[in-house]
Amino acid sequence: MAKIFCVANQKGGVGKTTTSVNLSAGLAKIGQRVLLVDLDPQGNATMGAGVNKAGLQASTYEVLLGTAGVAEARQKSETGGFDILPANRELAGAEVEMVELDNRERRLKQALEKVDADYDFVLIDCPPALSMLTLNGLCAAHGVIIPMQCEYYALEGLSDLVNTIKKVHANLNHDLKIIGLLRVMFDPRMTLSQQVSAQLEQHFGDKVFKTIIPRNVRLAEAPSYGMPGVAFDPSSKGAQAYIAFGAEMVERIKSM
Ligand code: ATP
Ligand code: MG
Repeated sequence: MAKIFCVANQKGGVGKTTTSVNLSAGLAKIGQRVLLVDLDPQGNATMGAGVNKAGLQASTYEVLLGTAGVAEARQKSETGGFDILPANRELAGAEVEMVELDNRERRLKQALEKVDADYDFVLIDCPPALSMLTLNGLCAAHGVIIPMQCEYYALEGLSDLVNTIKKVHANLNHDLKIIGLLRVMFDPRMTLSQQVSAQLEQHFGDKVFKTIIPRNVRLAEAPSYGMPGVAFDPSSKGAQAYIAFGAEMVERIKSM
């Protein structure tokens, strides 16, 4: 059975997509079968996986509305070694169009059940909002990975996300839990980064992943080449960190 994880944080620009794409590539590198679901109309994960988001035959949009299956809509990320269910701006319309449908928060879950046997991991790149799209991600998942920057405002808004996860757990998906907080874009030279990082460990204990993702320009450059950083420059510090994070996730799921 595939383990399904949302990469979520309603804050924008905190590293969700970079984490989704590079964790997918990192897991693929150690032999895991991975599907990355782009659940964001921005389509950044799609582009980062090397798939052109313009003119998709089928995408997450069609899958949510039930006019295509995942098996037809998925594509290969040649550079990343994983499959991607791609998305583009069309997906923004799904939010409104799903209002009419039954079980609208479980559309993604139902669609993923049909390809479950094909994968070890399914990762879902969520948009920066606690919207119906994100709710579909949370209903489909076993757990949530929350990327965070170690800055002064890091904890701001975290309680909204945690409360949403609690509500979904109580009412819609009893499997759902927070797998962990991932420290990203970390700059060890900044005292503030060190302090916030220590605070996170104090508050959240073993819910904080051991792996820390450093700020690394190679990770930021890679998407413009349509490649995950892990494939673009495998020896860079950022790529190495995401490969290590993949190994940490493989360990984590053994105890789930
Ligand atoms: P959104 O909320 O818009 O979907 P996001 O949470 O998915 O954003 P990303 O797109 O992954 O965030 O990252 C935001 C920006 O930070 C991007 O330009 C990305 O290249 C850069 N970035 C992410 N992680 C790192 C890192 N470890 N080192 C350097 N740059 C990074
Ligand atoms: Mg994103």
